Amino acid sequence: MRIFTASLATETNTFSPVPTDRASFEMAFYATPGKHPETPTLCSSPMVALRRRAAEGLTVIEGTATWAEPGGLVQRKAYEDLRDEILGQLSAALPVDAVILGLHGAMVAQGYDDCEGDLLSRVREVVGPDVVVASELDPHSHLTAKRVAAADILAAFLEFPHTDFYERGEHVVELGLAAARGDIRPVISTFDCRMIAVLPTSREPMRSFVDRLKALQGKDGVLSVSVIHGFMAADVPEMGTRIIVVTDNDRAKGDALAERLGMELFAMREKTVMTMVNADDGIDRAFAVRKADPAKPAVIADVWDNPGGGVPGDGTFVLKKLIERGHGRIGVATIWDPIAVTFCHAAGEGATIQLRFGGKAGPQAGEPVDAKVRVLKAVAEGWQSFGPSRVTLGATALIHIEGTEIDVILNTNRTQTFEPDIFSNLGIDPLSKDILLVKSTNHFYAGFQPIAAEIIYVNAPSSYPSDPRTTNYTKLDRPIWPRVENPFA
Ligand SMILES: [Zn+2]
Repeated sequence: MRIFTASLATETNTFSPVPTDRASFEMAFYATPGKHPETPTLCSSPMVALRRRAAEGLTVIEGTATWAEPGGLVQRKAYEDLRDEILGQLSAALPVDAVILGLHGAMVAQGYDDCEGDLLSRVREVVGPDVVVASELDPHSHLTAKRVAAADILAAFLEFPHTDFYERGEHVVELGLAAARGDIRPVISTFDCRMIAVLPTSREPMRSFVDRLKALQGKDGVLSVSVIHGFMAADVPEMGTRIIVVTDNDRAKGDALAERLGMELFAMREKTVMTMVNADDGIDRAFAVRKADPAKPAVIADVWDNPGGGVPGDGTFVLKKLIERGHGRIGVATIWDPIAVTFCHAAGEGATIQLRFGGKAGPQAGEPVDAKVRVLKAVAEGWQSFGPSRVTLGATALIHIEGTEIDVILNTNRTQTFEPDIFSNLGIDPLSKDILLVKSTNHFYAGFQPIAAEIIYVNAPSSYPSDPRTTNYTKLDRPIWPRVENPFA
């Protein structure tokens, strides 16, 4: 069998001031055919999973695999060029028995509210109606009718944090190959939950819900079950939470199951979110926790200043409050500031300089910090792990704010904080700190939970549209909770 695979992914926050262009893809992750590393990235697992199965007599034809850190609207030409690059590779690979893609599902470009729907329907046009088209998706995406119509199999990561991205890539590959062999006839059913929420699976009630979904798969004709959580930072018509059920040619069963699960999820909509506190209360709590458990740092998550949600990630709001406290050994990962990194590199390791950093991309997450800092490290490329994958920070500087015990990582490649090695790779022992301040909504959880005395979620100001009740959605095509109390009424 001949299988084509490629990956084109980013998550677009249409409210973000950070435009996304081709350079954004090339800086974060861009692999031409055959050049994908051995380890998977968040959205390119199918390529790696297929390679690992090539011994089964498969001919795997790789296309481009690329990812841009979440940001604002994708430039039209950048999207069209990357799309056409992959479609050209697919055309050259014909005939194929299946196309198995790694997509994110929340890419929005100038003139394209639904990039993945556009790509999948063009893939369908290239291969015709009889070739299997499958894709893995991130649950923080939009499930449009156009995508469902163009694909045979769609499945999302089930976990948030996305600890199962590779496993779900294997799952999509498994189903795609079975369908190409004619062993199954996948049919997609969906249900619109008419809601938008943050749905971390590291805690109840989502933990048990996801465990039940997993138990449903692989029996009684149910091939796959996914929850599309939705992505609230996008002004697109079909934004919201949806259920996907893929059955073996049993639409009625799939439709009924999707509706039942969707209404169960709707019923728990007010109970899913993490408990958050304001910055002052969070810092108080962090010092108290540290005092009670001196062996481990308290971890403060600046939930909404999360580049993983497309915001700049240069917010200073919580850091300024920590500086004002005037005490505490504190590690901060990260503040995005390419200009400040350039200055630190120019000054060199060991230099003490007056530096303005952070707060430059917009006013919502705090003003810049002006401080005398010592450049502890200036490296060409900082990095951190995210499960089996390696995430670049780009050129990076580690600075120490003079007169405090605060160390801050400044990066040039925007990324949220995933794992404590973001500190140790620069020579900071995270366990030596009282408080670690990380920029992430929940992906940091798996990495930091084992070393944290406690994790404190802080709801500090940011440019992220975190309250869907008040966000100015101009394209949303139906009422959803919490904008209306009962959208099913
Ligand atoms: Zn996600």
